[in-house]
Amino acid sequence: MLVSVTLLATWRYAQLGDHFQEQARTLHRTVVQRVGQHDAHLTNLAAVAQLDDPRHASFVAVAAAVHNFYPRIASIDLVSLTPPAEVRVSTRARTALAGFTLADVQQRADGLVAGRAAMLEAPAGPGYALVKRLGTAAPSALVLVIDAQKLIESDGAVESGTRVWLTDARGTVFGPSIPAASRRLVSWPPTLRFEQALPSVSQPLQLLMTRDLGRAELLPAGWLVLLAFGGAALLWLQGSVMRVRRASREAARQSQELRLAHAMRVNGLGEMASGIAHELTQPLTAMLSQSQAGLRLIAQGADAAAMVPILQANVRLARRSGEIIDRIRSYVSQREPLVSEVALNPLAAGVGDLTRADLQTRGIALELTLDPIAPVVRIDAIAIEQVLHNLVRNAAEALQAGADCAPAGARIVISTHGAHDGRGMAQVAVRDNGPGIGVNQMERLFEPFFTTKPGGMGLGLSLCERLVETLGGRIEVHSAPDCGSEFVVHLRSTVPRTNT
Ligand code: ADP
Repeated sequence: MLVSVTLLATWRYAQLGDHFQEQARTLHRTVVQRVGQHDAHLTNLAAVAQLDDPRHASFVAVAAAVHNFYPRIASIDLVSLTPPAEVRVSTRARTALAGFTLADVQQRADGLVAGRAAMLEAPAGPGYALVKRLGTAAPSALVLVIDAQKLIESDGAVESGTRVWLTDARGTVFGPSIPAASRRLVSWPPTLRFEQALPSVSQPLQLLMTRDLGRAELLPAGWLVLLAFGGAALLWLQGSVMRVRRASREAARQSQELRLAHAMRVNGLGEMASGIAHELTQPLTAMLSQSQAGLRLIAQGADAAAMVPILQANVRLARRSGEIIDRIRSYVSQREPLVSEVALNPLAAGVGDLTRADLQTRGIALELTLDPIAPVVRIDAIAIEQVLHNLVRNAAEALQAGADCAPAGARIVISTHGAHDGRGMAQVAVRDNGPGIGVNQMERLFEPFFTTKPGGMGLGLSLCERLVETLGGRIEVHSAPDCGSEFVVHLRSTVPRTNT
């Protein structure tokens, strides 16, 4: 904003400066023409004065016409220099020179050759006299008294507030003196200034013009309002563009995470295969033995009513098998997160069911310690199932890598805890009695691509952390060398249910 205001003020100053210089040059040209006219009048009047006309009738007529037509010419006098000098003819009523004495005129004319003109300055007058010595037999001089103020009148050609002065070669000012402010070189905004000599031999004068700019002129209120609005609009636009960019970056990151999570779920399906088979075997076996029992009853001649409980049990078991398959299907399907209220105990038990068989083949026992308060959390169930599968797999791999560390038998415990701490967070934890995590590794555990496993990708824990944080939770790790590790997932809890 400050930069824009400075730029605007600088541009406006340059614009006003150009305008001022243009006007000053125009006035300078006008004054040069006026000064030139004085020389022309002197030449013409001199010619008329030298006519053989003892009563100077022609001179009087021409001088009166010039005097009337040019108000800046205060008077035109014909002075006899034959001592004692006297005014012979004057356009004024009184025959005395305005602001000048005859002695002054005489002295000035004495220094001139016939036909030449020179300036005579009044000690404190508003103008100057132009004295021309005539080449007549009796020495005489023509005197034009010029009103300097009228000479520099601009007739509206310069902006109001512009001050104009005429100075002589020594810097003496005609008319009101130059105020100190206009002489100052350093002021803000700097005073606009024009100073140029008049190219006249008889009247070697300088034209000086200054203009002090008001701050409002430099920064007009309307422009400032526009600038403020423009700046605000620009900021808003920039903010919007950044918001859109951030949102699209975030969306891209989320969709990448979703794809990664999905890929890792599909990848982990192999380890769950025996769990799935085990889960399905139980209802299928039950259905088989129920059906065989039914067949036996029919062979023994039982009536249809005896078949009803058997068929009802089969329907229940078939539904259960369908539910297991549905769960697996939604676990591996690619889908948007879906947050809902989920009971933590059944979710933890479900993960246990699907991983137990695989762990058994690895010689690892799985225990569940579920809080009877039965915590309910607001989560995406599939995401938290994935987190738990990951933690259980890591625990199993750690136990296998450091098999000597758990002489009492490798064990993984999945536990749940209600929001007893009053902070509204419930926990689900996966603990193992494996080799634990070294201090150096602890710091880098959640970094993407950090792994200590030969074929590891190092993406599991970083993904788990992202999934949990997206749901407003966090993961905490406790570990002591040779005492195993515990990964505690804190999740936002809702009202606890009475019991499962
Ligand atoms: P990966 O399993 O591909 O290595 P993760 O991000 O899941 O990637 O794990 C990163 C690292 O954390 C593992 O390589 C391992 O060193 C360590 N780790 C994770 N879980 C445990 C655990 N339960 N016990 C010991 N170390 C673990």
